[in-house]
Amino acid sequence: MIGGLDRKHSAVEIELSPEILARRAKQRRQMLDMTGVSYMIDAGILLIYAYAGATSFVIAPAYAACGLLSVAVYIAISEAKVNDRFRDHYFISQQTSISLMIMLVFLYFAPEVGCLFLCSIFLVFTFGALRSTPRQTIIGWTTAAVGLTALFLLTDKPIGMPTGTPLERFATMLVFILVLARGMIVGLFSSSLHESLYRRGIELKKAYQRIEELAELDELTGSLNRRSIMQTLDEEIIRARRSNVPCAVALIDLDWFKRINDRFGHPAGDEALRAFAITVFANIRSIDKFGRYGGEEFLLILPETSDGAALRTVDRLRGIVAALDWSAISQDMSVTMSAGLATLRADDTADTILARADRLLYQAKDMGRNRVVAG
Ligand code: GH3
Ligand code: MG
Ligand code: MG
Repeated sequence: MIGGLDRKHSAVEIELSPEILARRAKQRRQMLDMTGVSYMIDAGILLIYAYAGATSFVIAPAYAACGLLSVAVYIAISEAKVNDRFRDHYFISQQTSISLMIMLVFLYFAPEVGCLFLCSIFLVFTFGALRSTPRQTIIGWTTAAVGLTALFLLTDKPIGMPTGTPLERFATMLVFILVLARGMIVGLFSSSLHESLYRRGIELKKAYQRIEELAELDELTGSLNRRSIMQTLDEEIIRARRSNVPCAVALIDLDWFKRINDRFGHPAGDEALRAFAITVFANIRSIDKFGRYGGEEFLLILPETSDGAALRTVDRLRGIVAALDWSAISQDMSVTMSAGLATLRADDTADTILARADRLLYQAKDMGRNRVVAG
């Protein structure tokens, strides 16, 4: 039976963690316990039917024995951890088929209380369908349909719903009420499953957003990473062309940063980079784009900004950075920045405007640093 199961997505391939395997084993155990309880409920009603004289006293224990034996076999298989090798670790279609067989056999041997077995067939089938693939559901339905067809068409047994005496009426009432109760539990179980799937979906969406954010942002400074700022530059150039508005690009490099690292240590250098990025963010507009171009070099894109305004903005940033109290990071620390500022020309590409900004930045360094050179 197990050999015929779908092994395509075995746990060995997916590498489920021990916690997940333990949770799955617990869920299986819960489901099997519930199945066992369900058989016991039916056996109890069959006993009442037997007292009422509607059926033989053999039926109830025989039914309980068959049901519990099947559950025990599945518990043994589950405890042996065989299930984890299969995609359907519940063995739903096998369990559903076995249960349906039991119901059909008892429907054949005790048709006088057939309503109980017919109701149970509904229950088993509905529960099975909830956790099954369409293929498994069709297999389950076919099993039930073949069995019921044989019973109804190939035998002339009267299939009964005992209501002759008060006790019989009571037992039959219990059949329906308790089948409905178990149907209700299946329904509640299904809606909680739905709910948890919905929550998982939202969690996945959030995790995905976070991954996207991480892929866009530089881990140290929280500014856009190189890939992202370069992409933004391409987009801003296209936008500026389309709307016929100016755009300025500043390549900013921190001065003597190697010395800062050497003197204050790399962690303090990292802290200075973070403080620099925060300072820039606090002093630019929301439409401006700021990213880490590499090391201690940054790119600031100022959309819809003419050369004069851009120079004022970047030089103001330079002044703010130079005036910042860097001793909060390390005593005697001071950090300045130099920038090369280029404005977009008609035939510019990202490469040409960056090359210009880079040349201007080196001019700023040559001229003594802590300055902005525009061109
Ligand atoms: P200049 O004024 O000419 O730019 O001098 P500089 O020392 O800043 O120039 P250089 O490019 O030679 O050195 C850059 C230094 O920045 C070297 C490197 O150790 C440091 N640096 C680059 N990335 C990081 C980083 O993520 N954290 C820290 N702490 N330092 C970094
Ligand atoms: Mg530098
Ligand atoms: Mg540099």
